[in-house]
Amino acid sequence: MPELRNPSGILIVGAGLAGLFTALKLAPRPVTVISPGPLGEGASSAWAQGGIAAAVGEGDSTDAHAEDTIRAGAGIVDARIARLVAREAPARVRDLLAYGVPFDRDLAGHFVLSREAAHSAKRIVRVAGDRAGRAIMEALIATVSRTPSIRVVEGFEAEDLVIDAGRVTGLQIARHDDPQRTATLEAGAVVLATGGIGGIFAVTTNPGHARGTGIAMAARAGAVIADTEFVQFHPTAIDIGADPAPLATEALRGEGATLVNKAGERFMARLHPDAELAPRDVVARGVFQEIAAGRGAFLDCRTAIGAKFATSFPTVHARCMAAGIDPVRRPIPVVPAEHYHMGGIRTDENGRTGVAGLWAVGEVASTGLHGANRLASNSLLEAVVLGARAAEDVARSGAHPSVRALAEGRRRREIDPAARASAIGEIRRVMSRCAGVERSEVGLRAALGAVERVKAAGRHDPAIANAALAALFIVEAARRRKESRGGHFRSDYPETSHKLARRSFMTLAGLSLRSEAQARDVLSEITHAGRKVR
Ligand SMILES: Cc1cc2nc3c(=O)[nH]c(=O)nc-3n(C[C@H](O)[C@H](O)[C@H](O)COP(=O)(O)OP(=O)(O)OC[C@H]3O[C@@H](n4cnc5c(N)ncnc54)[C@H](O)[C@@H]3O)c2cc1C
Repeated sequence: MPELRNPSGILIVGAGLAGLFTALKLAPRPVTVISPGPLGEGASSAWAQGGIAAAVGEGDSTDAHAEDTIRAGAGIVDARIARLVAREAPARVRDLLAYGVPFDRDLAGHFVLSREAAHSAKRIVRVAGDRAGRAIMEALIATVSRTPSIRVVEGFEAEDLVIDAGRVTGLQIARHDDPQRTATLEAGAVVLATGGIGGIFAVTTNPGHARGTGIAMAARAGAVIADTEFVQFHPTAIDIGADPAPLATEALRGEGATLVNKAGERFMARLHPDAELAPRDVVARGVFQEIAAGRGAFLDCRTAIGAKFATSFPTVHARCMAAGIDPVRRPIPVVPAEHYHMGGIRTDENGRTGVAGLWAVGEVASTGLHGANRLASNSLLEAVVLGARAAEDVARSGAHPSVRALAEGRRRREIDPAARASAIGEIRRVMSRCAGVERSEVGLRAALGAVERVKAAGRHDPAIANAALAALFIVEAARRRKESRGGHFRSDYPETSHKLARRSFMTLAGLSLRSEAQARDVLSEITHAGRKVR
Protein backbone atom coordinates (compact mmCIF):
# COMPACT_ATOMS: atom_id res chain seq x y z
CA MET A 1 0.00 0.00 0.00
CA PRO A 2 2.64 2.58 -0.97
CA GLU A 3 0.13 5.41 -1.30
CA LEU A 4 -0.53 5.26 2.44
CA ARG A 5 2.95 6.24 3.53
CA ASN A 6 3.40 9.41 5.53
CA PRO A 7 -0.16 10.60 5.86
CA SER A 8 -0.69 13.72 7.96
CA GLY A 9 -1.49 13.62 11.63
CA ILE A 10 -5.13 14.67 11.14
CA LEU A 11 -7.32 11.90 9.78
CA ILE A 12 -10.85 12.49 8.55
CA VAL A 13 -12.85 9.29 8.12
CA GLY A 14 -15.53 9.68 5.45
CA ALA A 15 -15.78 11.90 2.39
CA GLY A 16 -19.33 13.21 2.42
CA LEU A 17 -20.20 16.84 3.01
CA ALA A 18 -19.16 16.76 6.68
CA GLY A 19 -15.75 15.19 5.97
CA LEU A 20 -14.83 17.33 2.96
CA PHE A 21 -16.04 20.59 4.50
CA THR A 22 -14.01 19.89 7.66
CA ALA A 23 -10.95 19.12 5.52
CA LEU A 24 -11.33 22.38 3.57
CA LYS A 25 -11.77 24.39 6.75
CA LEU A 26 -8.58 22.87 8.13
CA ALA A 27 -6.54 23.97 5.10
CA PRO A 28 -3.68 24.74 4.86
CA ARG A 29 -3.08 22.27 7.70
CA PRO A 30 -2.28 18.86 6.19
CA VAL A 31 -5.18 16.44 6.41
CA THR A 32 -5.76 12.89 5.18
CA VAL A 33 -9.30 11.90 4.17
CA ILE A 34 -10.23 8.20 4.05
CA SER A 35 -12.94 7.20 1.57
CA PRO A 36 -14.12 3.67 0.74
CA GLY A 37 -14.83 4.62 -2.88
CA PRO A 38 -13.91 7.39 -5.30
CA LEU A 39 -14.67 10.82 -3.83
CA GLY A 40 -18.38 11.58 -3.82
CA GLU A 41 -19.48 7.97 -4.26
CA GLY A 42 -21.19 6.27 -1.36
CA ALA A 43 -22.12 9.53 0.41
CA SER A 44 -25.72 10.46 1.22
CA SER A 45 -24.66 14.07 0.75
CA ALA A 46 -24.58 13.67 -3.02
CA TRP A 47 -28.14 12.35 -3.03
CA ALA A 48 -29.78 15.23 -1.14
CA GLN A 49 -32.55 16.70 -3.24
CA GLY A 50 -34.17 19.47 -1.23
CA GLY A 51 -31.27 21.65 -0.16
CA ILE A 52 -29.82 23.35 2.88
CA ALA A 53 -31.78 25.36 5.42
CA ALA A 54 -30.61 28.92 6.28
CA ALA A 55 -32.50 32.06 7.25
CA VAL A 56 -31.31 34.15 4.30
CA GLY A 57 -34.72 35.26 2.95
CA GLU A 58 -36.41 38.59 3.44
CA GLY A 59 -38.49 38.64 6.63
CA ASP A 60 -36.94 35.41 7.95
CA SER A 61 -34.75 35.29 11.06
CA THR A 62 -32.30 32.89 12.64
CA ASP A 63 -34.50 32.93 15.76
CA ALA A 64 -37.45 31.66 13.70
CA HIS A 65 -35.25 28.95 12.18
CA ALA A 66 -34.12 27.87 15.65
CA GLU A 67 -37.72 27.85 16.95
CA ASP A 68 -38.89 25.67 14.03
CA THR A 69 -35.99 23.28 14.71
CA ILE A 70 -36.90 23.07 18.40
CA ARG A 71 -40.60 22.47 17.63
CA ALA A 72 -39.86 19.73 15.07
CA GLY A 73 -37.59 17.90 17.54
CA ALA A 74 -40.54 16.94 19.78
CA GLY A 75 -39.41 18.33 23.12
CA ILE A 76 -35.78 17.23 23.37
CA VAL A 77 -33.79 19.53 21.07
CA ASP A 78 -30.81 21.22 22.72
CA ALA A 79 -32.04 24.82 22.24
CA ARG A 80 -28.55 26.24 22.64
CA ILE A 81 -27.27 24.12 19.73
CA ALA A 82 -30.33 24.94 17.61
CA ARG A 83 -29.74 28.70 18.06
CA LEU A 84 -26.04 28.40 17.39
CA VAL A 85 -26.54 26.34 14.20
CA ALA A 86 -29.30 28.67 12.89
CA ARG A 87 -27.13 31.72 13.63
CA GLU A 88 -24.10 30.35 11.78
CA ALA A 89 -26.10 28.98 8.81
CA PRO A 90 -25.96 32.07 6.55
CA ALA A 91 -22.16 32.32 6.90
CA ARG A 92 -21.70 28.64 6.01
CA VAL A 93 -23.96 29.02 2.94
CA ARG A 94 -21.72 31.92 1.88
CA ASP A 95 -18.70 29.60 2.35
CA LEU A 96 -20.34 27.07 0.02
CA LEU A 97 -20.90 29.83 -2.55
CA ALA A 98 -17.22 30.72 -2.28
CA TYR A 99 -16.34 27.05 -2.90
CA GLY A 100 -18.32 27.35 -6.14
CA VAL A 101 -21.75 25.87 -5.32
CA PRO A 102 -24.15 27.30 -7.95
CA PHE A 103 -27.13 27.96 -5.64
CA ASP A 104 -30.27 29.12 -7.48
CA ARG A 105 -30.40 32.93 -7.49
CA ASP A 106 -32.64 35.53 -9.14
CA LEU A 107 -31.50 38.33 -11.43
CA ALA A 108 -30.84 40.58 -8.42
CA GLY A 109 -28.56 37.91 -6.94
CA HIS A 110 -30.95 36.89 -4.14
CA PHE A 111 -31.26 33.19 -3.29
CA VAL A 112 -34.31 31.47 -4.75
CA LEU A 113 -35.71 29.71 -1.68
CA SER A 114 -38.09 26.77 -1.24
CA ARG A 115 -40.31 26.07 1.70
CA GLU A 116 -40.37 22.61 3.26
CA ALA A 117 -42.54 20.91 5.87
CA ALA A 118 -42.53 22.51 9.36
CA HIS A 119 -40.49 25.56 8.29
CA SER A 120 -42.33 28.81 9.01
CA ALA A 121 -40.63 30.60 6.09
CA LYS A 122 -39.14 29.95 2.68
CA ARG A 123 -35.69 28.96 3.84
CA ILE A 124 -34.26 26.15 1.72
CA VAL A 125 -31.32 27.20 -0.45
CA ARG A 126 -31.32 24.87 -3.45
CA VAL A 127 -29.64 24.10 -6.77
CA ALA A 128 -31.50 23.54 -10.08
CA GLY A 129 -34.62 22.39 -8.21
CA ASP A 130 -33.67 18.97 -6.85
CA ARG A 131 -29.88 18.81 -7.46
CA ALA A 132 -28.57 20.44 -4.28
CA GLY A 133 -26.60 17.49 -2.91
CA ARG A 134 -24.92 16.59 -6.18
CA ALA A 135 -24.01 20.22 -6.96
CA ILE A 136 -22.64 20.86 -3.46
CA MET A 137 -20.50 17.72 -3.59
CA GLU A 138 -19.23 18.45 -7.12
CA ALA A 139 -18.11 21.93 -6.05
CA LEU A 140 -16.44 20.61 -2.89
CA ILE A 141 -14.68 17.76 -4.69
CA ALA A 142 -13.32 20.23 -7.25
CA THR A 143 -12.10 22.52 -4.45
CA VAL A 144 -10.55 19.60 -2.55
CA SER A 145 -8.67 18.50 -5.66
CA ARG A 146 -7.19 22.01 -5.92
CA THR A 147 -6.19 22.08 -2.25
CA PRO A 148 -2.68 20.65 -1.85
CA SER A 149 -2.98 20.23 1.93
CA ILE A 150 -5.74 17.61 1.53
CA ARG A 151 -4.62 14.11 0.73
CA VAL A 152 -7.41 11.70 -0.20
CA VAL A 153 -6.90 7.97 0.30
CA GLU A 154 -9.59 6.16 -1.68
CA GLY A 155 -10.51 2.49 -1.45
CA PHE A 156 -10.24 2.01 2.33
CA GLU A 157 -12.74 1.47 5.12
CA ALA A 158 -12.08 2.28 8.75
CA GLU A 159 -12.62 -0.65 11.11
CA ASP A 160 -11.43 0.52 14.49
CA LEU A 161 -9.74 3.30 16.41
CA VAL A 162 -6.39 2.75 18.05
CA ILE A 163 -6.44 3.85 21.68
CA ASP A 164 -3.49 4.48 23.93
CA ALA A 165 -4.00 5.54 27.56
CA GLY A 166 -7.54 6.73 26.83
CA ARG A 167 -6.50 8.79 23.82
CA VAL A 168 -7.17 8.07 20.15
CA THR A 169 -3.79 7.64 18.49
CA GLY A 170 -4.69 6.06 15.19
CA LEU A 171 -6.99 4.17 12.92
CA GLN A 172 -7.19 0.66 11.63
CA ILE A 173 -8.34 0.40 8.02
CA ALA A 174 -8.89 -2.33 5.44
CA ARG A 175 -8.97 -2.32 1.67
CA HIS A 176 -12.50 -2.11 0.36
CA ASP A 177 -11.81 -4.48 -2.57
CA ASP A 178 -9.62 -6.86 -0.55
CA PRO A 179 -10.65 -6.89 3.13
CA GLN A 180 -7.77 -9.27 3.95
CA ARG A 181 -5.35 -6.35 3.57
CA THR A 182 -5.23 -4.04 6.55
CA ALA A 183 -3.17 -1.09 7.72
CA THR A 184 -2.79 0.98 10.86
CA LEU A 185 -2.37 4.74 10.56
CA GLU A 186 -1.06 6.74 13.48
CA ALA A 187 -2.83 10.04 13.97
CA GLY A 188 -2.90 12.86 16.46
CA ALA A 189 -6.52 13.71 15.73
CA VAL A 190 -9.30 11.64 14.15
CA VAL A 191 -12.54 13.19 12.87
CA LEU A 192 -15.30 10.64 12.24
CA ALA A 193 -17.61 11.69 9.40
CA THR A 194 -18.97 8.30 8.37
CA GLY A 195 -22.64 9.26 7.89
CA GLY A 196 -25.77 7.34 8.84
CA ILE A 197 -27.11 3.87 9.56
CA GLY A 198 -29.46 3.08 6.66
CA GLY A 199 -27.34 0.10 5.62
CA ILE A 200 -28.42 -1.83 8.71
CA PHE A 201 -32.10 -1.65 7.70
CA ALA A 202 -33.63 -3.76 4.93
CA VAL A 203 -35.16 -0.77 3.16
CA THR A 204 -33.19 2.49 3.11
CA THR A 205 -32.53 5.55 0.99
CA ASN A 206 -28.88 5.63 2.18
CA PRO A 207 -25.80 4.28 0.39
CA GLY A 208 -24.60 0.83 1.50
CA HIS A 209 -21.58 2.13 3.49
CA ALA A 210 -23.91 3.82 5.96
CA ARG A 211 -23.76 1.01 8.50
CA GLY A 212 -23.10 2.92 11.71
CA THR A 213 -19.39 2.00 11.76
CA GLY A 214 -18.49 5.35 13.30
CA ILE A 215 -20.87 4.75 16.20
CA ALA A 216 -19.39 1.32 16.89
CA MET A 217 -15.77 2.51 16.71
CA ALA A 218 -16.43 5.52 18.95
CA ALA A 219 -18.35 3.43 21.48
CA ARG A 220 -15.45 1.00 21.83
CA ALA A 221 -13.16 3.98 22.35
CA GLY A 222 -15.33 5.05 25.29
CA ALA A 223 -17.47 7.75 23.66
CA VAL A 224 -21.03 8.42 24.78
CA ILE A 225 -23.65 7.43 22.22
CA ALA A 226 -26.82 9.55 22.21
CA ASP A 227 -30.45 9.36 21.06
CA THR A 228 -29.95 6.23 18.95
CA GLU A 229 -33.63 5.26 19.20
CA PHE A 230 -34.58 8.25 17.04
CA VAL A 231 -34.55 7.08 13.44
CA GLN A 232 -36.37 8.94 10.69
CA PHE A 233 -38.19 6.82 8.11
CA HIS A 234 -39.09 8.45 4.83
CA PRO A 235 -42.70 7.52 4.04
CA THR A 236 -42.43 7.37 0.28
CA ALA A 237 -39.45 5.44 -1.01
CA ILE A 238 -40.29 3.89 -4.38
CA ASP A 239 -41.04 0.19 -3.86
CA ILE A 240 -39.35 -1.41 -6.86
CA GLY A 241 -37.02 -3.73 -4.97
CA ALA A 242 -34.00 -1.46 -5.55
CA ASP A 243 -31.33 -1.25 -2.84
CA PRO A 244 -30.97 1.56 -1.85
CA ALA A 245 -34.58 2.53 -2.50
CA PRO A 246 -35.03 5.70 -4.58
CA LEU A 247 -37.04 8.54 -3.09
CA ALA A 248 -40.36 9.88 -4.29
CA THR A 249 -39.68 13.34 -2.90
CA GLU A 250 -42.01 15.01 -0.40
CA ALA A 251 -42.47 17.82 -2.93
CA LEU A 252 -44.81 15.50 -4.90
CA ARG A 253 -47.19 15.46 -1.95
CA GLY A 254 -46.64 19.21 -1.61
CA GLU A 255 -47.96 19.50 -5.20
CA GLY A 256 -51.09 17.56 -4.24
CA ALA A 257 -50.19 13.90 -4.95
CA THR A 258 -52.26 11.59 -2.71
CA LEU A 259 -51.52 8.31 -0.93
CA VAL A 260 -53.94 5.50 -1.79
CA ASN A 261 -54.18 1.77 -1.15
CA LYS A 262 -54.88 -1.02 -3.65
CA ALA A 263 -58.59 -0.22 -3.52
CA GLY A 264 -57.83 3.41 -4.39
CA GLU A 265 -58.83 4.67 -0.90
CA ARG A 266 -57.02 7.77 0.41
CA PHE A 267 -55.91 6.45 3.80
CA MET A 268 -54.01 9.46 5.23
CA ALA A 269 -57.15 11.60 5.25
CA ARG A 270 -58.61 9.46 8.07
CA LEU A 271 -55.35 9.45 10.09
CA HIS A 272 -54.39 13.14 10.35
CA PRO A 273 -56.02 16.52 9.58
CA ASP A 274 -53.08 17.38 7.29
CA ALA A 275 -53.47 14.01 5.49
CA GLU A 276 -50.46 13.47 3.15
CA LEU A 277 -48.76 16.59 4.53
CA ALA A 278 -48.79 15.37 8.15
CA PRO A 279 -45.36 15.06 9.86
CA ARG A 280 -43.05 12.52 8.23
CA ASP A 281 -43.30 9.96 11.05
CA VAL A 282 -47.13 10.04 10.96
CA VAL A 283 -47.21 9.48 7.19
CA ALA A 284 -44.57 6.73 7.47
CA ARG A 285 -46.76 4.90 10.00
CA GLY A 286 -49.83 5.32 7.79
CA VAL A 287 -47.99 3.80 4.82
CA PHE A 288 -46.50 1.05 7.03
CA GLN A 289 -49.92 0.06 8.39
CA GLU A 290 -51.55 -0.16 4.95
CA ILE A 291 -48.75 -2.41 3.73
CA ALA A 292 -48.85 -4.53 6.92
CA ALA A 293 -52.62 -4.98 6.47
CA GLY A 294 -52.02 -6.24 2.93
CA ARG A 295 -53.71 -3.25 1.31
CA GLY A 296 -50.53 -1.80 -0.24
CA ALA A 297 -49.58 1.87 -0.52
CA PHE A 298 -49.21 3.97 -3.66
CA LEU A 299 -48.49 7.61 -4.45
CA ASP A 300 -51.05 8.80 -6.97
CA CYS A 301 -49.62 11.70 -8.97
CA ARG A 302 -51.90 11.35 -12.00
CA THR A 303 -54.15 14.33 -11.28
CA ALA A 304 -51.85 16.63 -9.29
CA ILE A 305 -48.75 16.33 -11.48
CA GLY A 306 -49.89 14.50 -14.61
CA ALA A 307 -48.18 15.31 -17.90
CA LYS A 308 -45.68 17.75 -16.37
CA PHE A 309 -44.08 14.96 -14.30
CA ALA A 310 -41.03 14.45 -16.54
CA THR A 311 -40.11 18.13 -16.56
CA SER A 312 -41.01 18.99 -12.95
CA PHE A 313 -39.53 15.87 -11.28
CA PRO A 314 -37.01 14.44 -13.74
CA THR A 315 -35.13 12.32 -11.17
CA VAL A 316 -38.21 10.54 -9.83
CA HIS A 317 -39.67 10.20 -13.33
CA ALA A 318 -36.52 8.53 -14.65
CA ARG A 319 -36.37 6.06 -11.72
CA CYS A 320 -40.03 5.09 -12.21
CA MET A 321 -39.77 4.69 -15.97
CA ALA A 322 -36.63 2.55 -15.61
CA ALA A 323 -38.68 0.23 -13.39
CA GLY A 324 -41.52 0.09 -15.91
CA ILE A 325 -43.86 2.41 -13.99
CA ASP A 326 -45.20 5.42 -15.88
CA PRO A 327 -46.20 7.78 -13.04
CA VAL A 328 -48.35 9.83 -15.39
CA ARG A 329 -50.64 6.82 -15.87
CA ARG A 330 -50.13 4.65 -12.76
CA PRO A 331 -49.80 5.28 -9.02
CA ILE A 332 -46.24 4.70 -7.77
CA PRO A 333 -45.84 1.82 -5.23
CA VAL A 334 -44.22 3.22 -2.06
CA VAL A 335 -42.73 1.89 1.18
CA PRO A 336 -41.23 3.58 4.28
CA ALA A 337 -37.41 3.54 4.24
CA GLU A 338 -34.76 4.36 6.82
CA HIS A 339 -33.61 7.82 5.83
CA TYR A 340 -31.85 9.70 8.61
CA HIS A 341 -30.45 9.01 12.07
CA MET A 342 -31.04 11.73 14.66
CA GLY A 343 -28.84 9.82 17.13
CA GLY A 344 -25.13 9.09 17.00
CA ILE A 345 -21.87 9.87 18.77
CA ARG A 346 -22.52 12.50 21.37
CA THR A 347 -20.52 15.67 20.71
CA ASP A 348 -20.41 19.19 22.04
CA GLU A 349 -20.82 22.31 19.90
CA ASN A 350 -17.31 21.83 18.50
CA GLY A 351 -17.69 18.20 17.45
CA ARG A 352 -15.70 16.97 20.47
CA THR A 353 -16.69 13.49 21.59
CA GLY A 354 -15.28 13.50 25.11
CA VAL A 355 -12.56 11.00 24.08
CA ALA A 356 -9.22 12.75 23.70
CA GLY A 357 -8.16 13.03 20.06
CA LEU A 358 -11.62 12.13 18.68
CA TRP A 359 -14.15 14.40 16.99
CA ALA A 360 -17.34 13.50 15.08
CA VAL A 361 -19.29 15.57 12.55
CA GLY A 362 -22.29 15.16 10.28
CA GLU A 363 -24.92 12.45 10.52
CA VAL A 364 -22.71 10.13 12.60
CA ALA A 365 -22.71 12.71 15.40
CA SER A 366 -25.50 13.66 17.78
CA THR A 367 -25.27 17.28 18.88
CA GLY A 368 -28.86 17.57 20.12
CA LEU A 369 -29.84 19.70 17.12
CA HIS A 370 -32.47 17.28 15.81
CA GLY A 371 -33.96 15.98 19.05
CA ALA A 372 -36.45 13.22 18.25
CA ASN A 373 -37.14 14.41 14.71
CA ARG A 374 -35.07 16.31 12.16
CA LEU A 375 -36.40 19.46 10.56
CA ALA A 376 -36.12 19.09 6.77
CA SER A 377 -32.81 20.30 5.28
CA ASN A 378 -31.15 20.82 8.65
CA SER A 379 -28.77 17.87 8.16
CA LEU A 380 -26.63 19.30 5.35
CA LEU A 381 -26.60 22.45 7.46
CA GLU A 382 -25.40 20.63 10.58
CA ALA A 383 -22.64 19.00 8.53
CA VAL A 384 -21.18 22.38 7.49
CA VAL A 385 -21.73 24.30 10.73
CA LEU A 386 -20.25 21.57 12.91
CA GLY A 387 -17.60 20.76 10.28
CA ALA A 388 -16.32 24.34 10.47
CA ARG A 389 -16.44 24.36 14.27
CA ALA A 390 -14.69 21.00 14.57
CA ALA A 391 -11.98 22.16 12.16
CA GLU A 392 -11.30 25.20 14.34
CA ASP A 393 -11.26 23.06 17.46
CA VAL A 394 -8.91 20.44 15.99
CA ALA A 395 -6.59 23.22 14.84
CA ARG A 396 -6.73 24.88 18.28
CA SER A 397 -6.06 21.59 20.06
CA GLY A 398 -2.69 21.27 18.39
CA ALA A 399 -3.33 17.52 18.63
CA HIS A 400 -1.75 16.56 15.34
CA PRO A 401 1.88 15.64 15.48
CA SER A 402 3.25 14.08 12.34
CA VAL A 403 2.87 10.36 11.84
CA ARG A 404 5.56 8.17 13.34
CA ALA A 405 4.86 4.73 11.93
CA LEU A 406 2.60 2.67 9.79
CA ALA A 407 1.83 -1.00 10.09
CA GLU A 408 0.52 -2.92 7.10
CA GLY A 409 -0.48 -6.52 6.94
CA ARG A 410 -2.88 -9.32 6.18
CA ARG A 411 -5.48 -10.67 8.54
CA ARG A 412 -4.71 -14.00 10.13
CA ARG A 413 -8.25 -15.26 9.62
CA GLU A 414 -9.90 -15.08 6.19
CA ILE A 415 -12.92 -12.85 5.79
CA ASP A 416 -15.65 -14.77 4.01
CA PRO A 417 -17.54 -12.29 1.79
CA ALA A 418 -20.58 -14.58 1.55
CA ALA A 419 -20.77 -14.96 5.35
CA ARG A 420 -20.40 -11.18 5.72
CA ALA A 421 -23.21 -10.49 3.25
CA SER A 422 -25.45 -13.04 4.92
CA ALA A 423 -24.79 -11.69 8.45
CA ILE A 424 -25.42 -8.08 7.43
CA GLY A 425 -28.52 -9.19 5.51
CA GLU A 426 -29.82 -10.84 8.69
CA ILE A 427 -29.19 -7.67 10.75
CA ARG A 428 -31.04 -5.62 8.11
CA ARG A 429 -34.06 -7.92 8.13
CA VAL A 430 -34.24 -8.00 11.93
CA MET A 431 -33.86 -4.22 12.25
CA SER A 432 -36.60 -3.46 9.76
CA ARG A 433 -38.93 -6.04 11.26
CA CYS A 434 -38.36 -5.27 14.95
CA ALA A 435 -36.79 -1.81 15.24
CA GLY A 436 -38.37 -0.06 12.28
CA VAL A 437 -41.36 2.24 11.91
CA GLU A 438 -43.22 0.49 14.76
CA ARG A 439 -41.55 -1.11 17.77
CA SER A 440 -42.65 -3.10 20.81
CA GLU A 441 -41.00 -4.77 23.81
CA VAL A 442 -41.48 -8.24 22.36
CA GLY A 443 -40.02 -7.29 18.98
CA LEU A 444 -37.11 -5.35 20.45
CA ARG A 445 -36.18 -8.22 22.78
CA ALA A 446 -36.26 -10.59 19.82
CA ALA A 447 -34.05 -8.16 17.89
CA LEU A 448 -31.53 -7.98 20.75
CA GLY A 449 -31.22 -11.77 20.79
CA ALA A 450 -30.97 -12.07 17.01
CA VAL A 451 -28.40 -9.29 16.58
CA GLU A 452 -26.30 -10.55 19.47
CA ARG A 453 -26.23 -14.01 17.87
CA VAL A 454 -25.07 -12.54 14.55
CA LYS A 455 -22.44 -10.47 16.38
CA ALA A 456 -21.10 -13.50 18.25
CA ALA A 457 -20.93 -15.64 15.11
CA GLY A 458 -19.23 -12.88 13.09
CA ARG A 459 -16.95 -11.41 15.77
CA HIS A 460 -13.76 -12.00 13.75
CA ASP A 461 -15.14 -9.84 10.90
CA PRO A 462 -15.01 -6.12 11.85
CA ALA A 463 -17.72 -5.19 9.32
CA ILE A 464 -20.19 -7.58 10.97
CA ALA A 465 -19.11 -6.64 14.49
CA ASN A 466 -19.48 -2.90 13.77
CA ALA A 467 -22.87 -3.18 12.07
CA ALA A 468 -24.15 -5.40 14.88
CA LEU A 469 -22.89 -3.07 17.60
CA ALA A 470 -24.52 -0.03 15.99
CA ALA A 471 -27.76 -2.04 15.68
CA LEU A 472 -27.59 -3.02 19.37
CA PHE A 473 -27.33 0.63 20.41
CA ILE A 474 -30.47 1.43 18.42
CA VAL A 475 -32.45 -1.55 19.67
CA GLU A 476 -31.48 -1.13 23.32
CA ALA A 477 -32.22 2.61 23.36
CA ALA A 478 -35.57 1.91 21.69
CA ARG A 479 -36.32 -0.75 24.29
CA ARG A 480 -35.50 1.58 27.17
CA ARG A 481 -37.61 4.49 25.90
CA LYS A 482 -41.08 3.39 26.96
CA GLU A 483 -43.04 6.09 25.15
CA SER A 484 -43.51 7.35 21.59
CA ARG A 485 -41.82 10.55 20.49
CA GLY A 486 -40.79 11.88 17.08
CA GLY A 487 -39.14 9.15 15.03
CA HIS A 488 -39.52 6.55 17.81
CA PHE A 489 -42.94 4.84 17.91
CA ARG A 490 -43.79 2.08 20.39
CA SER A 491 -47.04 0.28 19.63
CA ASP A 492 -47.10 -0.80 23.32
CA TYR A 493 -46.45 2.78 24.56
CA PRO A 494 -48.14 4.94 21.90
CA GLU A 495 -48.34 8.09 24.06
CA THR A 496 -45.66 10.70 24.68
CA SER A 497 -44.61 10.89 28.34
CA HIS A 498 -43.74 14.34 29.66
CA LYS A 499 -41.52 12.69 32.25
CA LEU A 500 -39.34 11.26 29.48
CA ALA A 501 -38.76 14.55 27.68
CA ARG A 502 -34.99 14.20 27.73
CA ARG A 503 -32.25 12.92 25.48
CA SER A 504 -30.80 9.45 26.04
CA PHE A 505 -27.16 8.61 26.51
CA MET A 506 -25.47 5.24 26.59
CA THR A 507 -21.97 3.84 26.75
CA LEU A 508 -20.68 0.46 25.66
CA ALA A 509 -20.53 -0.61 29.31
CA GLY A 510 -24.14 0.45 29.79
CA LEU A 511 -25.25 -1.40 26.66
CA SER A 512 -24.09 -4.76 27.92
CA LEU A 513 -26.03 -4.57 31.18
CA ARG A 514 -29.41 -6.16 30.92
CA SER A 515 -31.20 -6.88 34.22
CA GLU A 516 -33.60 -4.37 35.77
CA ALA A 517 -31.27 -3.72 38.73
CA GLN A 518 -28.41 -3.15 36.32
CA ALA A 519 -30.64 -0.92 34.24
CA ARG A 520 -31.09 1.40 37.24
CA ASP A 521 -27.32 1.71 37.60
CA VAL A 522 -27.10 2.33 33.88
CA LEU A 523 -29.48 5.24 34.25
CA SER A 524 -27.18 6.99 36.70
CA GLU A 525 -24.20 6.17 34.54
CA ILE A 526 -25.99 7.60 31.51
CA THR A 527 -26.76 10.85 33.31
CA HIS A 528 -23.22 11.09 34.54
CA ALA A 529 -21.77 10.31 31.13
CA GLY A 530 -24.04 12.89 29.57
CA ARG A 531 -22.61 15.62 31.79
CA LYS A 532 -19.04 14.48 31.28
CA VAL A 533 -18.88 15.58 27.65
CA ARG A 534 -19.53 19.26 28.22
C1 LIG B 1 -31.85 10.45 -0.67
C2 LIG B 1 -31.50 11.44 0.40
C3 LIG B 1 -31.96 12.76 0.30
C4 LIG B 1 -31.64 13.70 1.30
N1 LIG B 1 -32.03 15.01 1.16
C5 LIG B 1 -31.59 15.94 2.06
C6 LIG B 1 -31.84 17.34 1.87
O1 LIG B 1 -32.44 17.75 0.89
N2 LIG B 1 -31.37 18.21 2.80
C7 LIG B 1 -30.68 17.80 3.91
O2 LIG B 1 -30.28 18.64 4.72
N3 LIG B 1 -30.42 16.49 4.10
C8 LIG B 1 -30.84 15.56 3.20
N4 LIG B 1 -30.56 14.24 3.40
C9 LIG B 1 -29.70 13.86 4.55
C10 LIG B 1 -28.27 14.28 4.26
O3 LIG B 1 -27.95 14.02 2.91
C11 LIG B 1 -27.27 13.55 5.14
O4 LIG B 1 -27.67 13.57 6.47
C12 LIG B 1 -25.89 14.22 5.06
O5 LIG B 1 -25.51 14.33 3.71
C13 LIG B 1 -24.87 13.45 5.84
O6 LIG B 1 -23.59 13.93 5.49
P1 LIG B 1 -22.32 13.19 6.08
O7 LIG B 1 -21.13 13.84 5.46
O8 LIG B 1 -22.44 13.12 7.54
O9 LIG B 1 -22.48 11.68 5.55
P2 LIG B 1 -22.37 11.10 4.07
O10 LIG B 1 -22.59 12.14 3.05
O11 LIG B 1 -23.21 9.88 4.00
O12 LIG B 1 -20.83 10.68 3.97
C14 LIG B 1 -20.32 9.62 4.75
C15 LIG B 1 -18.98 9.21 4.19
O13 LIG B 1 -18.38 8.26 5.06
C16 LIG B 1 -17.94 7.15 4.30
N5 LIG B 1 -17.86 5.99 5.19
C17 LIG B 1 -18.86 5.29 5.77
N6 LIG B 1 -18.35 4.30 6.52
C18 LIG B 1 -17.00 4.40 6.42
C19 LIG B 1 -15.92 3.67 6.96
N7 LIG B 1 -16.09 2.61 7.76
N8 LIG B 1 -14.64 4.05 6.64
C20 LIG B 1 -14.41 5.11 5.83
N9 LIG B 1 -15.41 5.83 5.29
C21 LIG B 1 -16.68 5.48 5.58
C22 LIG B 1 -18.95 7.05 3.17
O14 LIG B 1 -18.48 6.28 2.11
C23 LIG B 1 -19.07 8.54 2.82
O15 LIG B 1 -17.96 8.95 2.07
C24 LIG B 1 -30.88 13.29 2.42
C25 LIG B 1 -30.44 11.97 2.52
C26 LIG B 1 -30.74 11.05 1.52
C27 LIG B 1 -30.23 9.65 1.66
